[in-house]
Amino acid sequence: MNTLGVHALVWVGGWSHQEAERAIVATARTGFDLIEIPVLDPASVDTGSTRALLEQHGLRAGCSLGLDLGADISSGDPAVVMRGARRLANALTVTHALGADYLGGVVYSALAKYPQPSTSAGRANSVAAIRELASEASAHGIAVGLEVVNRYESNLLNTAEQAMAFIDDVGADNVVVHLDTYHMNIEETDFAAPVRTCGDRLGYVHIGESNRGYLGTGTVDFPQFFTALREAGYTGTVTFESFSSAVVHPSLSNMLAVWRNLWDDGHDLAAHALDYMRHGLAVPSSLQR
Ligand code: MN
Repeated sequence: MNTLGVHALVWVGGWSHQEAERAIVATARTGFDLIEIPVLDPASVDTGSTRALLEQHGLRAGCSLGLDLGADISSGDPAVVMRGARRLANALTVTHALGADYLGGVVYSALAKYPQPSTSAGRANSVAAIRELASEASAHGIAVGLEVVNRYESNLLNTAEQAMAFIDDVGADNVVVHLDTYHMNIEETDFAAPVRTCGDRLGYVHIGESNRGYLGTGTVDFPQFFTALREAGYTGTVTFESFSSAVVHPSLSNMLAVWRNLWDDGHDLAAHALDYMRHGLAVPSSLQR
């Protein structure tokens, strides 16, 4: 059985105490096991109150972030790399304080549309910084996930193959690949080969439709993807991710180019997604709707 999660942006755009409570209650009521909490600004998360809410509602948490260009560990500028490494260290502290065992996202570069390709010096800086983060994370039993994203959101890891090569260079057991169907739809040949490429290095999954709205309303071949996960024996976390202008995060929504209103009712969206994911993960593809 997979741990089934939902991204906090389905419910709330920020993480004040009230927003945290609203998101955690809604996640638990809908029937998910886990909530993914964005930690772009690690200092803004009140870890004590969030952890208490998680325990009260019997939920697990995962943490994610994308770096910005001023804190890009794949930069050639040592001061920028240092700022990124500090940001990641702070995000790790938050992850540990929440009792979570996963920190992922675009942690290896900025989450941004780059105006040029990555450089080998920048990639080497990123490998070194992720190695250091992984070593700290390992002491707390936390996995570091490299989310493979499309070309408009990073210039470094756009395919599962690139992520596997990067992880080989890092050389740490607790660094895993994080696949997201929304990005795979743009960059990969299909939805099964990348799962096979990752093998047991696949450590986290985002389920997102091609339009980032309701599952089943876009072009992602979910039956093919779910079948590949089942055949690979993947038992890790599968988290639903969706964005609409109905819920706005002050920076993340703009980084992700969330311009359109794809849904208003996060509760209906999330309940539908949970049912869709359970069905997809449980039923052979020949019987899927
Ligand atoms: Mn994602």
